[in-house]
Amino acid sequence: MKIRVAIAGVSGRMGQVLLDAVASDSGCVLHAALDRAASPMMGQVVAGVAISSDLAAALEQAQVLIDFTRPEATFRHLDACEAAQVPLVIGTTGFDAAGQARIAAASQSIPLVFAPNMSVGVNLLMKLAELAAQVLDDGYDIEIIEAHHRHKVDAPSGTALGLGQAVARATGRDLAQCAVYGREGVSGERDPKTIGFATVRGGDIVGDHTLLFAGTGERVELTHKAGSRATFATGALRAAKWLQGRAPGLYDMRDVLNLK
Ligand code: NAD
Repeated sequence: MKIRVAIAGVSGRMGQVLLDAVASDSGCVLHAALDRAASPMMGQVVAGVAISSDLAAALEQAQVLIDFTRPEATFRHLDACEAAQVPLVIGTTGFDAAGQARIAAASQSIPLVFAPNMSVGVNLLMKLAELAAQVLDDGYDIEIIEAHHRHKVDAPSGTALGLGQAVARATGRDLAQCAVYGREGVSGERDPKTIGFATVRGGDIVGDHTLLFAGTGERVELTHKAGSRATFATGALRAAKWLQGRAPGLYDMRDVLNLK
């Protein structure tokens, strides 16, 4: 039996690659294609399905909703998935603490995979980051450098923040207290307990992340470069399948990939 997948934000960059990924995956079938009412693609037919903004109708008989949109849209998707008891994969980034709490609350009644980066390689990088941070704690300055395309609207990337959280956890720090987001002017000497973030935006860069441990006499760099958005879509479909039959809860890609 193929899994009936609803996709939100189908006119977006990720929505488009998700449509391709579902079409070429023999384990899935497109059940519904959603977008905001103002989308220029509204009403067009993709893979035999008309693009619509009718959330309730889209979720009827759906087995999962995959959401790569914007936080305000994700909140509506959360409410609708709770009402229809449909599992949800959230790839959208840019949530503040209140937004994250809202996602956690919904996960009490439906199973949810929420991951700022669905690529298998990046999730392995997170694991390697924890290991490196345990060894390279004292005497190494930790910096995270990320680069994305010119259209990205939030910074630093959700993945960069996720890397920061992984490293902060592994070294017993609180990211909210020790993060430094960019530097300018007379910023003073570096505090060894901080974790620095640097953001690059330009062109069509899909997503590069480097975690740098700069010590005295050596540097260790862990880098991941995504060459195509297909990697995120493949991961999202893997998460969609993994969610089937799962108990309500808040899961991430490390659960899906058994990396915990
Ligand atoms: P995009 O701007 O190309 O597409 C956004 C889509 O969301 C569009 O279809 C748009 O119509 C829709 N949308 C926007 N506001 C909406 C609303 N209020 N209601 C309903 N639909 C709405 O963006 P993108 O590059 O496809 O990225 C989408 C999100 O996914 C971003 O948050 C991005 O950071 C994130 N992302 C996550 C991963 C991951 O692996 N988790 C990978 C790539 C992108």
